Amino acid sequence: MNIFFTLDYELFLGSETGTLQNSIIIPLRHFTDMLDKYNVKTTIFVDAAYLLRIRQLKANSPALENDYSLVCNNIAELSNQGHDIELHFHPQWIYSNYNDQKWDLDANHYKLSDLPMDVALNSFTESKKLLESISGKEVRAFRAGGFSLTTFNNYIQLFKDNNISIDSSVIRGEHIHSNLHSYDYRDVPNKTLYSFSSNINQEDQNGEFKELSISTVPLISLHYLLKKQIAKNIFDPIITWGDGCGIGYGNMANEAKQKVNKLLRKVNLAAGLDSYSSLLLPYTYNLFKNKIDNLNFVAIGHPKAFSEGSIKQVENFIIKVKDSNKFLTCSDIKLGKEYE
Ligand SMILES: [Zn+2]
Repeated sequence: MNIFFTLDYELFLGSETGTLQNSIIIPLRHFTDMLDKYNVKTTIFVDAAYLLRIRQLKANSPALENDYSLVCNNIAELSNQGHDIELHFHPQWIYSNYNDQKWDLDANHYKLSDLPMDVALNSFTESKKLLESISGKEVRAFRAGGFSLTTFNNYIQLFKDNNISIDSSVIRGEHIHSNLHSYDYRDVPNKTLYSFSSNINQEDQNGEFKELSISTVPLISLHYLLKKQIAKNIFDPIITWGDGCGIGYGNMANEAKQKVNKLLRKVNLAAGLDSYSSLLLPYTYNLFKNKIDNLNFVAIGHPKAFSEGSIKQVENFIIKVKDSNKFLTCSDIKLGKEYE
């Protein structure tokens, strides 16, 4: 089986973004140092809308000037180490501002479809070029911020115009429609990696694009809640670094709605590398392999939610599965290595 570790390289997206060092660079360094022991490479989806915004604002702020050089050096270093630098894009950065040493994030443009069309097209292209100039390598893969891709009607054209051939925005089986998130991935093909042409939810074996969907396993809600609670109770983070806070579902009413939704339907447990989710990785992997797809498995992580404890759990997982599996990145798919 091929295993893909995929990370979203991004700050917290709530009222406190956290600092670049504590919420991205330090936890990620601990993670890649661990991966080095096993010669495992990871795909890193870098939020390039963030890069674009720092570059635009840094002339007026020594703090941002410093962050910009830190982030560029960090991405170049990760790329040189053989990790796969690909494109992530959180549109809220486009209209965000930096005041009094603090980011003021714009929650009204959280999805690609919230941006005016010309702004979306231009900033996407510009941020991809910027990321390529920093990593020194061509970007061919993409993951939409908050997974909200399909509500942006022109996504196929966006991929064509920007030479994106692999997408990884599909979180298998999930669906949501709120002011912050909007997608429906309930009817995706029953395999992790598939080709598509004009619709991401439909396989087309001759399609020019490939979807590398995020692995999830469907559980009845009580089972899911129990699993999650037990993992939360026994998980020991040991040391945490992230110093911001997330936006969740935006407000208390949305939070409550999502909780009720989760009680009423099957819930998809994602293969996660973050926090207490890392404890459930062997469980998700086995269930996914036995019930859904035994060829490819994709886990998602966020450095901001890593801890010494979660990195240890991922290491235990690598030790357990490394002899019978191959660890691949999106760049390996471009080379056809998933069939070797
Ligand atoms: Zn993200």
